[in-house]
Amino acid sequence: MEKVTAKKHLGQHFLKDESVAKNIADTLNLEGYEDVLEIGPGMGVLTKYLLEKPINTYVIEIDTESVEYLGVHYAKLKDKIISKDFLKYDINEVFKGKQFAIIGNFPYNISTQIVFKTLEYRDQIPEFAGMFQKEVAERICEKKGSKAYGILSVLAQAFYDVEYLFTVDEHVFNPPPKVKSGVMRMRRKEDYSLPCGEKLLFTVVKTAFQQRRKTLRNSLKTLNLSDILREDEVFNLRPEQLSVEEFIALTQKIEADGV
Ligand code: SAH
Repeated sequence: MEKVTAKKHLGQHFLKDESVAKNIADTLNLEGYEDVLEIGPGMGVLTKYLLEKPINTYVIEIDTESVEYLGVHYAKLKDKIISKDFLKYDINEVFKGKQFAIIGNFPYNISTQIVFKTLEYRDQIPEFAGMFQKEVAERICEKKGSKAYGILSVLAQAFYDVEYLFTVDEHVFNPPPKVKSGVMRMRRKEDYSLPCGEKLLFTVVKTAFQQRRKTLRNSLKTLNLSDILREDEVFNLRPEQLSVEEFIALTQKIEADGV
């Protein structure tokens, strides 16, 4: 089997540039974990650089043709190929509560869902690195005040230090995607426990950004806050004007309000 036929519905754009693949693999600091899970290895362009590192590399791939290809070409991956949909897979069937890193040149059609699943499993994921559609990588890393700052930025940065690393051109892929790509990395904060309820923070952030042009006083009406709380100056702001810390402080105030 020479190569895998690219399938559009699976977001398959295979990276041709070896140096980009190596640079992505090298973003991991390998500290605090012994295993790495690569999502969507395709034909293994990134996998082969991971296999050179002092770490156990697992891959999860939805495409059976790619799985077959990997089995033939990478003997070292034996027993470490998970032929499943990452979004539906119970990660602990393999990792059993252990710490592991996530890496990938991700399928762009499910990239935000990959980040949300990572946040859900953050207790086990100290490091996450990979390539997204450029706008998505930027959005995760954006700070308050920017147009791209949104739900993904606030929730990722509540638990992780994030860094946009470099941009990758469309012509180093086969077939080339319509958009540029961006490589980013998230490292879990030393103390990532929140001083407020996590579920409430998610609700506040999502509700506020659903109507991002409105002030919080208007957008958070559905949360039935007391009139006294709603007089607080913070409610004059629009969501993109609040930093991550300010969203956490707002959530604490809402909690104290007793809703
Ligand atoms: N990493 C490879 C392939 C990138 S294309 C490279 O850089 O060349 C994205 C890959 O993700 C494809 O191989 C696709 O089959 C796989 N994929 C798509 N959806 C997936 C899912 N839900 N779970 C696991 N893999 C998926």
